[in-house]
Amino acid sequence: MKKSIIKNITNKTLGILGGGQLGKMIAQEASRLGIRTCIYDPNKKSPAFQNANIIINDVYTNKTSLKRLIKNSDKITYEFENIPIESLNFLKKNRQIYPGLRALKYSQDRLLEKRFISNLGISVAPFYKINNFIDINKALRKLNGSAILKTRKLGYDGKGQYLIKNNKIPNIQTKIEKNKYIIEGLIKFKKEISVIVIRTKDGKLECFEPAENKHKNGILRETIFPLESSMKIKNKAKDIALKIANSLNVVGIIAVEMFINENNEIIVNEIAPRPHNSGHWTINACNISQFEALVRVIFDMPIPKIKYYHSCKMVNILGDNYGIIEKSLSIRNHIVHIYGKDEIKNSRKLGHINILS
Ligand code: AMP
Repeated sequence: MKKSIIKNITNKTLGILGGGQLGKMIAQEASRLGIRTCIYDPNKKSPAFQNANIIINDVYTNKTSLKRLIKNSDKITYEFENIPIESLNFLKKNRQIYPGLRALKYSQDRLLEKRFISNLGISVAPFYKINNFIDINKALRKLNGSAILKTRKLGYDGKGQYLIKNNKIPNIQTKIEKNKYIIEGLIKFKKEISVIVIRTKDGKLECFEPAENKHKNGILRETIFPLESSMKIKNKAKDIALKIANSLNVVGIIAVEMFINENNEIIVNEIAPRPHNSGHWTINACNISQFEALVRVIFDMPIPKIKYYHSCKMVNILGDNYGIIEKSLSIRNHIVHIYGKDEIKNSRKLGHINILS
């Protein structure tokens, strides 16, 4: 190891905004590379606190606590998109924030995200801004009566989404407020896939091969690597993801979720400038995981070429299939990850199993 790299990682602390499972897995990889973590989350039962050297348990808007994060961190990252932008701007004056705020701005708002991606010449589902009930009817006429109404902000795991079929609008009229919704045409997809891109400070790009994602009720249930598809489609998916990462000046990692439609065209669904559930297979199947890649970029460590040791099916553990942990713990190619959440709830992500072959 070059001397300068040792210097980059000695006595260093990574500040992490968000103490969920993604924060926890970032902290685990940071720790493996000798980097301490200071984890900030309003929930005192945050799973990542199990792995933190320093804990800040406060709302994201408290200046005193934000100053404590600055004091205790050399660099800062975030594990989820909905950190108030004012808090990030405050932190930004004193510490670098990775993978950057430009990507975050777009990923926080589905309307800005879709406009940005389509302006790059990349296909997205047809979309319309919704300010009121009349807008929904207008859009439905253009979309032949089938669509998904989504909140522009704060939606995740299918939350804030309403499927509309045959012009039947669910009973949500009272909730339609100005600038809060977007409507999207329904994509008839053959497969859902995602690509995770690593981009370094000097703009060097590397990316994981695409993997297939299976959702149920808007929640990711399985990711399968490798994706069964032609080389042409895989390369196209990677090119799209790399173009997005470059255009957003990402420094760290970004996940790009896409649909492959019936004509083998690729349509981008959404982006997430952070580790992503659909990249958890990289922890056990590759020489470097999405979490390690993020930590390496932040602390100026080299990114090796990605090597794939295994095929992998990643199965999410939620409250409704929690029992599979017991069986998997006795199977040698099932690698069990349990997040240590305080409560078991049906639609809550509690862990995952990487089934290697
Ligand atoms: P999202 O939160 O936007 O990622 O949506 C969650 C899931 O809903 C996606 O992974 C898809 O399975 C489905 N979905 C979202 N938008 C569309 C769309 N425009 N057409 C078809 N399916 C969609």
